[in-house]
Amino acid sequence: MSFINRANIIVKALDKLDKKVKQGKGKVINLCSMQELISELNLKAFIKDGSMSENELAQFVEKYLLATTKLNHPGFFAHQVAPPHYAGSLGSMIDGFTNNAMAIYEMGPPAAAIEYFLINWFLKKVGWNPSPLPGSDLKNNNLQFGGGVLTHGGSLANLTAMLAARNQIAPDAWENGNPNDLALLAPSGSHYSNARSAGILGIGQKAIYHLQLDKNGSIIPDKLEQVYLKMKNDGKRPIALIANACSTAVGIYDPLDETGDFCNENNIWFHVDGAHGASVLLSEKYKHLVKGIEKADSLTWDAHKLMQVPTLCAALLFKDHKSIDTAFKQEASYLFHEKEQPGFDFLHRTIECTKAGLGLKLFMVLAALGEKGLSDYIESRTELTLKAYEYIQSLPNFECPVKPESNILCFKIKGDDDLQIKIRDTLIAKGDFYLSTTSFNDIRYLRFVIMSPATNFKNIKQTITNIGQVKDSLNGYKRCL
Ligand SMILES: *Cc1c(COP(=O)(O)O)cnc(C)c1O
Repeated sequence: MSFINRANIIVKALDKLDKKVKQGKGKVINLCSMQELISELNLKAFIKDGSMSENELAQFVEKYLLATTKLNHPGFFAHQVAPPHYAGSLGSMIDGFTNNAMAIYEMGPPAAAIEYFLINWFLKKVGWNPSPLPGSDLKNNNLQFGGGVLTHGGSLANLTAMLAARNQIAPDAWENGNPNDLALLAPSGSHYSNARSAGILGIGQKAIYHLQLDKNGSIIPDKLEQVYLKMKNDGKRPIALIANACSTAVGIYDPLDETGDFCNENNIWFHVDGAHGASVLLSEKYKHLVKGIEKADSLTWDAHKLMQVPTLCAALLFKDHKSIDTAFKQEASYLFHEKEQPGFDFLHRTIECTKAGLGLKLFMVLAALGEKGLSDYIESRTELTLKAYEYIQSLPNFECPVKPESNILCFKIKGDDDLQIKIRDTLIAKGDFYLSTTSFNDIRYLRFVIMSPATNFKNIKQTITNIGQVKDSLNGYKRCL
């Protein structure tokens, strides 16, 4: 058995696949049943014998790749997961090979250094002060500086932000448990991880007060006061107010500037869930969408969505590093600068103990594309989405509920909810185009999330034509009896 031979087999197979996929050859999705896959891939025999030969490896990888969902295919516009740039995938490989789980600095000095450096890069993009390097002489002790951590995903980042916010409003909850007057302010269209945070924190989902939204699902700043007063009348205190940048269902940005002012005036922790859309900070053209983002106390920003980074790599950022440094305990232990140590331990900032070197793959993508390359990518996907919107709106049988602000676009063909689902099921079974569906204002829509750099306007038009054809072929179809 030789590493280099096996690596060659795998790299060659990936290269072949990559070229094919980017040209749109083959299916984007191949929904075989689990039973079929377990038997086709011969899983049982291989784990029993444990002696997969090079030939068998080649066959296995080929079958495996055939069955995968192809995110770099021009027909992939289903979910908010990055079609990975190969530079990032190579970063994953180095990380997997070295396994430097840098919860403590000595277990992965370069991975930790990259994470620290990238957290500062993110902080500066938001407009927050970066953290001085450990060992720096902090002459100005009053300087407020930010801090953060890379987590395995935006959901974990959101939960961690809520923990930090909870500890601010109820400092002894860590020791004694929650007081019973804690609540959350959030839009109903907030990502489900935020409602889960309420469940996990033990304040209960009923403690979420939903903010009033306009027809696009975006926060109405003038109505914030009303919901807040109701909360106060109920004898509750908000852990945080959560805003979307952008929303998961339709990709619309909340007005962060006004919402931030409201939170600051009322001394409410302001958390921006920018898992999907904070990446517009990289675009001069679109960063106005997150105007006021620096008024937040904490921000979730996924790199594995709009930054072509393979899963997972999410940044959780704080305007004030003390909020995260004290999130998992009562006492502040943030005076790491006083310690004589060469690096920084991320352990006290995360729910995870063992953690991957998440920053490397992001660094590799940045080193390949540069900020400009990523900005071009984000702008081109946003513009294509707008073009798709204009096209779809011009068709008599189609409608869109919202004009898009990001790379997410909801639309429907005239007909009921079941029809939309049946159309999607039919398209996925064919495997040439892969789109998602979502419910918005209680209506079922088809949904494009235009992620693949290979997708162009022609692919969009073909999909719409196909949807029309599928509908015609379904005439007379009833979902039940
Ligand atoms: C995708 C998303 C999340 C969840 O992030 P994961 O990285 O998938 O855990 C949270 N909030 C919003 C707004 C999202 O779009």
